[in-house]
Amino acid sequence: MALIVQKFGGSSVADADKIRNVARIITETYQKGNSVVAVLSAQGDTTDDLIEKAKEINPNASKREMDMLLSTGEQISISLCAMCIESMGFQAISLTGWQAGMLTNSVYSNARIKRIRTERIQKELDKKKIVLVAGFQGINKYDDITTLGRGGSDTSAVALAAALRADLCQIYTDVDGVYTADPRTVKGARKLDEITFDEMLELASLGAQVLHNRSVEMAKRYNVNMEVISSFSGNPGTKVKEVVKTMEKTHVSGVAKDKNVARIALVGLADQPGIAFKIFSLLAKKDINVDIILQSIGRDESKDISFTVARSDADEAKAVMEENKEAIGFQSIEINKQIAKVSIVGAGMAHNAGVACKMFEALSAAGININMISTSEIKVSVLVDERDADRAVQAVHDRFFSEFGSNN
Ligand code: ADP
Ligand code: ASP
Ligand code: MG
Repeated sequence: MALIVQKFGGSSVADADKIRNVARIITETYQKGNSVVAVLSAQGDTTDDLIEKAKEINPNASKREMDMLLSTGEQISISLCAMCIESMGFQAISLTGWQAGMLTNSVYSNARIKRIRTERIQKELDKKKIVLVAGFQGINKYDDITTLGRGGSDTSAVALAAALRADLCQIYTDVDGVYTADPRTVKGARKLDEITFDEMLELASLGAQVLHNRSVEMAKRYNVNMEVISSFSGNPGTKVKEVVKTMEKTHVSGVAKDKNVARIALVGLADQPGIAFKIFSLLAKKDINVDIILQSIGRDESKDISFTVARSDADEAKAVMEENKEAIGFQSIEINKQIAKVSIVGAGMAHNAGVACKMFEALSAAGININMISTSEIKVSVLVDERDADRAVQAVHDRFFSEFGSNN
């Protein structure tokens, strides 16, 4: 007998028929002799709808109250699913984040799980019950409800799997697994049978929303046996693991796009020591994460520095720079929110020259201008105009994955 954690995303529980389908998957797993803990997301667009409702009342609502509101979405799903499972003749119990012992820090709307007190879940499993846990939520040291950030139910599931030492953590969603690119928007995207934690972490962090990046981070840390699988098709999914068999063969395993990017350029800085330190320490003090940084060659004792931040942080970053214009000493500041980041990811890339070049060639052939470039051992990212982003992803994907164009 195994202990299996199954997570079902918003589209998998969107209406009554879909909840029945989820209840069928859970009870079939249970009937095979397994203990099952299921983590559910809010139904369909419920979380977005709740955010809209809040905006109608107070567009600047406190994060604490937002968490109180948003956590209700998941509670609807778990109670409805528990009722459905009961109607099928099985014993089920739904638990909110705090009932399930999910202890987090106090960063409302983006809390991190610190510990899980598993006693209650364990007690219910011992009574042979199917346990349904509300995803995306926990409780902090003030006994307040917190949420884990958008897409956070994946992280709830992996954290539970790690804490309960589950044999398997299955992330059920609306596609067959992890693909070489978003299968809804990229023609010819292929499903991967397996992918490494490191590659999946990069893909998730670079915009592939199929998994919450912190869930992958946690799965890697606790070596959780994890797979991404469809709630609807019955096809085999994608295994996410430390080492995969095909790692040697492929250089690139996926292409991702992220539109949550803005670029800020500081023009006419003095070409002298300490300038970069001044700029980035001011941003760090405001907790603004900087991604790509580019500095031009100094000429006539003047240089430019541009950098990217999340689009949601762009206005604040610009304001901090302007407030400190004299201390930093720049002539002008430019901000561009109409850009996107397109990335290729692959563990085999580090030891194969020419992978980045192939990406640039594909973009050049498509007539797409690159604004900035950044690389690491297992990824290459480029910044392009937002209106070119979809075409860029398709062109790069074609170059690496089309039947004839690829020697990947
Ligand atoms: P859930 O509601 O189940 O959590 P999400 O909408 O968060 O589902 O994630 C699934 C979606 O992720 C898919 O419908 C797909 O459009 C998108 N996606 C983006 N990149 C990828 C990828 N590389 N592989 C699979 N799906 C991807
Ligand atoms: N319901 C939350 C969201 O929409 C959490 C999740 O679905 O994972 O972001
Ligand atoms: Mg999701």
